[in-house]
Amino acid sequence: MSTFRIGQGWDRHRLVEGRRCVLGGVEFPDCPVGPLGHSDGDPVCHALADALLGAAGLGDIGRHFPDTDPRWAGADSLDLLSRVRDLVEAAGWRVGNVDATVITERPLLAPAVPRMQGKLAGALGVEPGQVSVKGTRGEGLGPEGRGECVTVQAVALLQRPGA
Ligand SMILES: [Zn+2]
Repeated sequence: MSTFRIGQGWDRHRLVEGRRCVLGGVEFPDCPVGPLGHSDGDPVCHALADALLGAAGLGDIGRHFPDTDPRWAGADSLDLLSRVRDLVEAAGWRVGNVDATVITERPLLAPAVPRMQGKLAGALGVEPGQVSVKGTRGEGLGPEGRGECVTVQAVALLQRPGA
């Protein structure tokens, strides 16, 4: 039986005027655009959830929380992430560390990174030091560079408890 498992996740949401902007569980009240989605649209939580589910071999977020299900309309994605943690732990794993790269023109992420780490660590039941969030910009290239969307890439490492 393996001791470690690794998984990756990717998510992209359109950025829309007047939409509440929540990234990594942190609200950016001054940002004029926010990620469109069935839930609160937080792509950081979604990419991390897919990385964790992928590492555990449990499919993807759409399988567990389908966007056709009214239960998840407007859902707090931090809550979805903590449910994913429960699924992963029920399968005999615990979270080792996670790392996410957020590609977006707006909002400026750096000042909020420590708060994101705290929120995500809380949902995952780990220390903030086990959660990394990095912001980067599209440099004017592609849909991220034009400010049309926010894209997140994530990886997660799972460990067997006691390993
Ligand atoms: Zn998503």
